[in-house]
Amino acid sequence: MSDPFLVQRIHMVRTQIEARNIVDPLVLQSMREVPRHFFVPDSIIHEAYQDNPLPISNGQTISQPYIVALMAEAARVIPGDNVLEIGAGCGYAAAVLSRIATKVVTIEIIPELSDFAQRNLAKAGIDNVEVVTSDGSVGYPQAAPFDVIIVTAAAPTLPPSLVAQLNINGRLIIPVRKDAFSERLMRVTKLSPDEIQEEYLEAVRFVPLRGKEGFN
Ligand code: SAH
Repeated sequence: MSDPFLVQRIHMVRTQIEARNIVDPLVLQSMREVPRHFFVPDSIIHEAYQDNPLPISNGQTISQPYIVALMAEAARVIPGDNVLEIGAGCGYAAAVLSRIATKVVTIEIIPELSDFAQRNLAKAGIDNVEVVTSDGSVGYPQAAPFDVIIVTAAAPTLPPSLVAQLNINGRLIIPVRKDAFSERLMRVTKLSPDEIQEEYLEAVRFVPLRGKEGFN
């Protein structure tokens, strides 16, 4: 089937993702396949493959393609994984993760955006993502434990509920607030039921995580 955006998408992966040293072949292939233009408002469809975040609605954004790739690679997502994403927004990152993992649950606190994500995922023909409307700062115990948890909003501190819902060897990727202007992307790996490893990755900028274990 012809896809008018295919050339732009292949170019996006080469110049924005591979050029910045993302090498995970599963992540690169998924981003070559997922139609990012299905996940932005129609009025800005021609900007879908640009090297920046874009406004969606309710004051929220679709993440920059590179950030989606960076988080997916940092999480070391593999086939068979049970993934939780906090902050569905338009559903794009969930779509990218769904092409690699077996099952993705994505949580969104703003009902209009859950609906938007649900519609976009359906348009893209993706059927292994469950969109849930709730406060994701406390995770999703119903479907825990998770091999991977990715939080796409900045937390004030590491939410204990999310750490608790990780499998052994599970990875939590989360931006944690450093000061008023920036966050650091963290990878938390659960080594045993009561032991975690914390690594600091790059400096990033995200909208705040609301809710009980977020900024309230
Ligand atoms: N993952 C998106 C980017 C989302 S932006 C993408 O693929 O582009 C962050 C989202 O997190 C926003 O939609 C915001 O409403 C949502 N959010 C903030 N706090 C939340 C919470 N406690 N639970 C669930 N979603 C939350």
